[in-house]
Amino acid sequence: MNKKTIDDITLTGKRILTRVDFNVPLKDGKVSDDTRIRAALPTIKKIITSGGKAILMSHLGRPKGQVKPELSLRPVAKKLSDLLELPVKFANDCIGPEAENGVKNLKEGEIILLENLRFHKQETENDSDFSQKLAELGDIYVNDAFGTAHRAHASTEGVTKFIKPAVAGYLMIKEIEYLGNTLAQPKHPFVAIIGGAKISGKIDVIKNLMQKIDTLLIGGGMVFTFYKAQGYNIGKSLLEEEKISEAENLLNMDLPDNMKMILPDDVLVTESLEPPYKIKIVSKNSIDDKSIGVDIGPKTQNIFADKIKTARTIVWNGPMGIFEIDEFAGGTIAVAKAIAEATDAGAVSIVGGGDSVAALDKTGLSEKITHVSTGGGASLEFLEGKTLPGVAALTERE
Ligand code: ADP
Ligand code: MG
Repeated sequence: MNKKTIDDITLTGKRILTRVDFNVPLKDGKVSDDTRIRAALPTIKKIITSGGKAILMSHLGRPKGQVKPELSLRPVAKKLSDLLELPVKFANDCIGPEAENGVKNLKEGEIILLENLRFHKQETENDSDFSQKLAELGDIYVNDAFGTAHRAHASTEGVTKFIKPAVAGYLMIKEIEYLGNTLAQPKHPFVAIIGGAKISGKIDVIKNLMQKIDTLLIGGGMVFTFYKAQGYNIGKSLLEEEKISEAENLLNMDLPDNMKMILPDDVLVTESLEPPYKIKIVSKNSIDDKSIGVDIGPKTQNIFADKIKTARTIVWNGPMGIFEIDEFAGGTIAVAKAIAEATDAGAVSIVGGGDSVAALDKTGLSEKITHVSTGGGASLEFLEGKTLPGVAALTERE
């Protein structure tokens, strides 16, 4: 990586202003899933064991520039303290006297978490004065919030104009290296599985991956816009009318040599999304007017699994069906199992996307995957081949 990292700098005695992604789900005033907090622990531990002062900042939810008590980061400070078995201080604001005094009183090896950045609208506006106020709280800036790196906000981008060096934390390094190196030097066969609800969110991913992969397997709701473009009846399945022509272009595109794009041969359909479902397995050319396509069919599951099992590099984004409903989760589970099996056999596998990671968690196979990306939107933009502003803003290595 050509960016400076936390390993390139001296932390001792310094105020280390650290952007973390503590945008975690809360329930009844408590953190209900601490995955993201745990993901930031290596960086936090490195700072404090090196004798640095850890000043942590994050957003939580979408308070839209207003102080919303239910979106306070205070419960996160409690959770972090439990995980580290150490005290974690808390400042009621991320700038101004509360933050300044909190930081002033912080000793080497201590931790303070600042209140939700997005209680100030200047955060998402990437306001320069606000960025400067944040910057004044630290001597060195560390960005470990891969999940927000695709946003040019004050705490991810603006702040780096006022504090140097700006370096990557361990989670950031891990994400960039796995996603970046895998895409730059994939071992072949390279299979990408793209699903999810809509084609519109995934077209750029498909186009970017198309240049690198051997096989593209398509599932999820977007299948039906492709089917429509091919002239099949899709009944009441999800359709993006305005994307039919783009789907047609993709289908007619000159593919690189040996590259294959595979759409499902059969699908699972239902007459209702509420029980009783009336589920049927139909081939792609026999979807009737009453049917809603909700998953790939069993024949397709096998075809996809066979392709996945012979792959040496696998990228997966987007569930194969409406996995939230158990009856429609079969395709997604089959894909997850095949990826786990391929990984056991030596393939490198990467799973990204909020719902894909949730689906994977549901199968209990997350541990089997080489890299499960913590960034939803950020990992998608990475797969689209875009530069992430939060990464671009970090200090280059000499
Ligand atoms: P990710 O968050 O991993 O990028 P998406 O947000 O693109 O994934 O898509 C996830 C959603 O796609 C899920 O909520 C799932 O229910 C939905 N989905 C999958 N298949 C279908 C389908 N056939 N019809 C409607 N929605 C679908
Ligand atoms: Mg999603």
